[in-house]
Amino acid sequence: MDQSSRRLSPPEAPRAFGFFIDGAERPAGDREVMTRTSPGHDVPVTEIPQCSAADLDHAVSAARTAFEDRRWSGLNGAARAAVLLRTGALIRKRVDDIAYWETLESGKPIAQARAEITGCADMFEYASGLARSLHGDAFNNLGDGMFGVVTREPVGVVGIITPWNFPFLILCERVPYVLASGNCIVAKPSEFTSATTVMLAQILSEAGLPDGVFNVVTGTGPTIGQALAEHGDVDMLSFTGSTRTGRAIVAAAGASNFKKLGLELGGKNPQIVFADADLEDAADGVAFGIAFNTGQCCVSGSRLIVERSVAEKFAQMVADKLGKAVTGDPLDEATQLGAITTEAQNATILTYIETGQAEGATLVCGGAALDLGRGRYIAPTVFSNVTADMAIAREEIFGPVLTVTPFDTVDEAIAMANDTDYGLAASVWTKDIDKALMVTRRVQAGRFWVNTTLAGGPELPIGGFKQSGWGREAGIYGVEEYTQIKSVHIEIGKRNHWIG
Ligand code: NAD
Repeated sequence: MDQSSRRLSPPEAPRAFGFFIDGAERPAGDREVMTRTSPGHDVPVTEIPQCSAADLDHAVSAARTAFEDRRWSGLNGAARAAVLLRTGALIRKRVDDIAYWETLESGKPIAQARAEITGCADMFEYASGLARSLHGDAFNNLGDGMFGVVTREPVGVVGIITPWNFPFLILCERVPYVLASGNCIVAKPSEFTSATTVMLAQILSEAGLPDGVFNVVTGTGPTIGQALAEHGDVDMLSFTGSTRTGRAIVAAAGASNFKKLGLELGGKNPQIVFADADLEDAADGVAFGIAFNTGQCCVSGSRLIVERSVAEKFAQMVADKLGKAVTGDPLDEATQLGAITTEAQNATILTYIETGQAEGATLVCGGAALDLGRGRYIAPTVFSNVTADMAIAREEIFGPVLTVTPFDTVDEAIAMANDTDYGLAASVWTKDIDKALMVTRRVQAGRFWVNTTLAGGPELPIGGFKQSGWGREAGIYGVEEYTQIKSVHIEIGKRNHWIG
């Protein structure tokens, strides 16, 4: 039965997950076990092993062996594509089950989780085509004695460290693209949300991925994550998480083997609204942009920069919209805003709300925790009269807290949008094509939305400017990122001798 048609509840006892090496899920055994409590229900839902450094070595060595014997990279693109396509089909078949565990561990609404996971199937299906179309280049213009070929090769063993806000989606924005060219993977999910990464390992195996090509080690960041970043036999690492941890990853890569890095870090993303925009549309988009995933989203539109003539009215329109959004049990189909994922993040958001009031910003709506009887929830919050020097305007809050600052000219709006260390995403709302293009060109952001926000899909790349990261994921760009380029010079005929 489709789970969307019946009422879900948390499990009666937590489900034990293992870690996954060389094609097999391995139980915790005598390892310490981390029990995850559902953020929306306060009950234990999963048990995850804390892997050791030896487990990590085992996983890296399984991936290395699989890479070196070419059981995956030596296949043709069509054979790799077939596995990726089967994975997509299996994800579609198990959407309800994956979404259930994703919701229990993360606190996100079940309907949203289901939509994210369906999108993940699409990623695998799209990447299957890329596995077949990836190609190099040829230089036939080097004279009669020389032919040049540029090929792309997989980088080798790739580590993937993911955060807790989109455990399955962020994983699937990487894995199919990394696999498309023939790499092998060791994934380390967030210690708060590991279940669905282990579920993906099971699905990949079932889809026919050879043993050792996709491995999962579970455990905390400072132990297992740091060890993965320092590992001398990992060729590339994709890290998604905070800018602070990103700095530790860069240092670890530099101190070990200079592994290639992909970094997706924080954001403080502007939503620029001009008075000539369709304000009803814009208010809905701005509300969605800050409340989606309770603002625990690297691309949340957390800074509203709005033309002064409509600023007050527009902030109220956004607050009215947010007032109608349904916050509640993440397992309830009607819920739009779920629970705050971690205890620490809950405290951080509430502290920023206090800071905003202490800094003199005006509270338009929200501003407090919501008591729903169990779990931790925060009302979507809007602050107006926010100035650029305030902490709530500068620092990534990673919660449902929107700041509102007015502007008078296009140049001023662009300058305000760029007045941040980050450059992950931005949106502009206007019916004037000239203004839309001018802003799109001059605002520094890796993802840009015009009269919409948070749109995405497997074709368009994701990644940031400035301190939001290095490199791009998804699309053909995400496949190329995980390849090495090799230049091959081929002499034709007799060599011109250097000696004699
Ligand atoms: P985090 O940096 O604390 O943790 C992210 C991952 O890194 C987790 O798996 C964690 O276990 C691991 N980790 C922690 N310390 C580590 C270390 N020293 N070495 C190696 N790995 C380590 O971030 P978080 O709290 O899980 O996620 C929230 C942050 O992630 C926010 O700041 C947000 O902006 C960012 N984020 C960015 C994107 C993006 O695409 N740019 C997406 C999601 C989240």
